[in-house]
Amino acid sequence: MKVYLDGQLVDESDAKVSVFDHGLLYGDGVFEGIRMYHNRIFKLREHIERLYWSAKAILLEIPMSQEEMIQACLETCRANQLREGYIRLIVTRGRGTLGLDPRRCPKPSVIIIAATIQLYPEKVYNEGMTIATVPTTRMLVNSVNPAIKSLNYLNNILARIEANLIGVEEAIMLNSEGFVAECTGDNIFAVQKGRLYTPPLSAGALYGITRNTVLDCARELGIPTGEPNLTRYDLYTADEMFLTGTAAEMVPVVKVDGRVIGTGQPGPITAKLLAAFREKTRHDGEIIFS
Ligand code: PMP
Repeated sequence: MKVYLDGQLVDESDAKVSVFDHGLLYGDGVFEGIRMYHNRIFKLREHIERLYWSAKAILLEIPMSQEEMIQACLETCRANQLREGYIRLIVTRGRGTLGLDPRRCPKPSVIIIAATIQLYPEKVYNEGMTIATVPTTRMLVNSVNPAIKSLNYLNNILARIEANLIGVEEAIMLNSEGFVAECTGDNIFAVQKGRLYTPPLSAGALYGITRNTVLDCARELGIPTGEPNLTRYDLYTADEMFLTGTAAEMVPVVKVDGRVIGTGQPGPITAKLLAAFREKTRHDGEIIFS
């Protein structure tokens, strides 16, 4: 496998970063997870834009333009002969000294890994997932804003550990006010009486690209949408629920905290939206091999 590292495509075995990189020492950096479908990099421009916004929020200057980053992603897929799969794009603060100050890191590092993807088992998509709310709350927007896709994922990892301990596949994280924020690696949607709801981004969630795409699909299908604050009660009383994320796409949820959602089967609106979403993956995105 060839990995893009600071302007060059190198063999996987040579793709190494310093132990003094502040991405490793402090989680100081930003990243993206991007999908390739049918010879295209899906929503590549949107992912690159979000990467640069994340970087801007932490005052990290990425040493190349957005257009150069787009080309670098395409080159990395081509070098690995990949038309389907997953890209992990990472920008770290770079090599510095022991000590937090980012001014000691003169040059950020850019890493692009293009690989295949391990999905949830098909059973989860057909039968739906069981999830639960966990004690760890989502970080305050005024601490590390969850909108920043940073390398510092311990808040999510702690919630994920809690999900593992109680034997469910994902964790719902509430914010400090008790409203639903998101899951550890996915945004949350609920359907009630034909309307599609997802928490507002101000509740403490990542500005999910899949979230946006699904909201677009809903509007195109004439399904009314809303972004109100949601409580656990709103989830328990939903007719349908699903999670969205680049890796997961759309995963139906059939049980939350022991409450069966709707009929206990993935619902019809979820299925309609998934079909519309899959259709978009055929036509949307930058072409890898022309
Ligand atoms: N929330 C979190 C915390 C995430 O890490 C992700 C990405 N895996 C998402 C939501 C979904 O975002 P996207 O649809 O852009 O992948």
